[in-house]
Amino acid sequence: MKKAIKDIDSDTLKSFASQLKGRLVFPSDATYNDTRKVYNGMIDKHPGLFAMCETTEDVIAAVNFGRDNNILVAIRGGGHNGAGLGLCDEGFVIDLSGLKFVDVDTTNNTVKVGGGNIWNEVDAVTHEFGLAVPSGMVSSTGVGGLTLGGGVGYLSRKYGLTIDNLLEAEMVLADGSFVTVNAKEHTDLFWAIRGGGGNFGVVTSFKFQAHPVKMIKGGPTLWPIERVEEIMAWYDNFLQNGPEELSGFIATMIIPESPFPAELHNKQFCAIVWCYVGDPNTFEELFQPVLDLNPVFAHVGDMPYPALQSMFDGLFPSGMQWYWRADFFDTLTPDITEQHLKFGSNIPTPLSQMHLYPISGAASRVGAKDTPWAYRGAKYAGVIVGVDPDPKNADKITNWCKEYWEALHPYSSGGAYSNFMMNEGEDRIKASYKHNYERLLQIKKQYDANNLFRVNQNIKPS
Ligand SMILES: Cc1cc2nc3c(=O)[nH]c(=O)nc-3n(C[C@H](O)[C@H](O)[C@H](O)COP(=O)(O)OP(=O)(O)OC[C@H]3O[C@@H](n4cnc5c(N)ncnc54)[C@H](O)[C@@H]3O)c2cc1C
Repeated sequence: MKKAIKDIDSDTLKSFASQLKGRLVFPSDATYNDTRKVYNGMIDKHPGLFAMCETTEDVIAAVNFGRDNNILVAIRGGGHNGAGLGLCDEGFVIDLSGLKFVDVDTTNNTVKVGGGNIWNEVDAVTHEFGLAVPSGMVSSTGVGGLTLGGGVGYLSRKYGLTIDNLLEAEMVLADGSFVTVNAKEHTDLFWAIRGGGGNFGVVTSFKFQAHPVKMIKGGPTLWPIERVEEIMAWYDNFLQNGPEELSGFIATMIIPESPFPAELHNKQFCAIVWCYVGDPNTFEELFQPVLDLNPVFAHVGDMPYPALQSMFDGLFPSGMQWYWRADFFDTLTPDITEQHLKFGSNIPTPLSQMHLYPISGAASRVGAKDTPWAYRGAKYAGVIVGVDPDPKNADKITNWCKEYWEALHPYSSGGAYSNFMMNEGEDRIKASYKHNYERLLQIKKQYDANNLFRVNQNIKPS
């Protein structure tokens, strides 16, 4: 049974506060309600205490405080997790938003970043050096959660998942020790954090391999939803046989009012958002088959990589209602595309969408046991998101999302990318780590047998 924060005596709290460079936030503080907000407006948790950490020493003190006082502990990185796993009710939140730095080393094109950075802070600095680290498709997501879960994005086909580019991490373990993990030191932990989430400790820094990516060709193409079956089948073939420099995710979506032409507004489409990082001189010929399919809208051209990374940030400001469902898919057969036509034609609100992210190319060449990310053989990480600003529409978007997922799940590979899951129970977590679950469990038992770090897609040690 965990203790409530209110049952901790004031001397213990004062002593803890005196060890921190950052501040504590209590429910009685004026900033509490803003502090407890996360990206997903559907999450309404009331933690008993926040430690706003600014240094590694703060994180060590916070971990020791949480463990010694037997309280429920959550770790918050960028606060974007759909299931709200950066927060907990009544317990203690170790907030990392003050733990930020971005250091680029041009001698080997590596970049070291803080455990609380968000991706657009990293992109802004690496771009200055003509470099990029593979991350996701929305730049306001946290480095911490996205990396520890895997990291699927525009550069996955060319350079692998975010975890495939993780060289080293520094972390605070449940016993308060501070360790460096990499291919030579604490190799078991280094394996576990490349997909196993926040189960093993608080990561205070990540060191990544960056790649020479500066200007890219990118943007969306759209077809009426009635053509989704044809376009998906074509896309599957085209992308799998195309160069790894070309990637793009395929979606069912409604076009919102801005910044698209008026004739597209509020209609349902099959969209592909492209990213090409190869030789610009070969792009026109490579892309011609896409244009031959007569998209009703095509806006693909030169742009700085961070512009593509942040293209959707404005559409999806913080605080909206989000409900998530996901699965991996090995194929896009007619049985599957038929469901995309059905549910893609009945999208409940303008911002609700379905995306399929390719995990082919470099991401698929990493062995299925080399990291906890078990589905290297699946071709797509699929995700359905019900999204709307109005809490009154929460049921509507949730139901559509669940029904869409239930129709597709029988055709899936069986598990999902952990970062796209809600609180879906232990069986789903096991299915998602598949053959890697047992090894994760053994490492969890070794480093966190009492499950201090349990507010995550939890590997339960007992
Ligand atoms: C709009 C949007 C778009 C997205 N697009 C993509 C995408 O393209 N590709 C993709 O791969 N994912 C994507 N995601 C999913 C994203 O990877 C997850 O939501 C991820 O959990 C966010 O990480 P965070 O640090 O912001 O979240 P948080 O809510 O802060 O944390 C999520 C989990 O990670 C743990 N955690 C965070 N930081 C640390 C740390 N430093 N040490 C230990 N544990 C930590 C937390 O305890 C929690 O369990 C998207 C999410 C959103 C909301």
